[in-house]
Amino acid sequence: MLPYRFFSSRLTPNASPNNMKTPSTLDELIEALRCLPGVGPKSAQRMTYYLLQHERKGAARLSTALANALSQIQHCQKCNSFTEDAVCALCASPNRDASTLCVVEMPADLMMMEQTQVYRGLYFVLMGRLSPLDGIGPKELYLERLIKRATDGVVKEVLLATNFTVEGEATAHYLGELLKEKGIKVTRIARGVPVGGELEHTDTGTLAQAVLERREVS
Ligand code: ZN
Repeated sequence: MLPYRFFSSRLTPNASPNNMKTPSTLDELIEALRCLPGVGPKSAQRMTYYLLQHERKGAARLSTALANALSQIQHCQKCNSFTEDAVCALCASPNRDASTLCVVEMPADLMMMEQTQVYRGLYFVLMGRLSPLDGIGPKELYLERLIKRATDGVVKEVLLATNFTVEGEATAHYLGELLKEKGIKVTRIARGVPVGGELEHTDTGTLAQAVLERREVS
């Protein structure tokens, strides 16, 4: 016969209903993973079990990398992108044209612009875009920092390279109006037919914009 204690502990796991249930280490990990975009409770649970069962080394590496990144990476004082120093290498480079400032949404966009090798100016990374429905307004993007930067007397042109999405276009329009008021020359990257693209396979919106933004053949 089982001792009374066995039944007692199984039938009344929490002595007092008023006590808040402390999340177990496992529950805490599942909950923590849910901060990632697009990760719901089921996915978080799957990731947790996978890491603990099959990828303990990878999990340890992830944990260390996260801790290091959080303690060492900050926003560049000039361009707002991620850096380990107060000012990033790109902003500190004497080989860049400080009179042109390109505004992009994310650091990945900056990397794409760099890969083109045709832009030699400096950058400002918004770290997002205006999206009133998501509660992201000018304050949330710290746009006053961009205005301060663009009106420092050195910058002569601001090139708006936000995405051609509804939010990206709205952000470019808002910034354009704001900067023009300050007497800054504002330009926008052009839309057009992709390199290697055939007109027959180009969507009408892109083709229409390419016609509107046509230029004289030099
Ligand atoms: Zn920078």
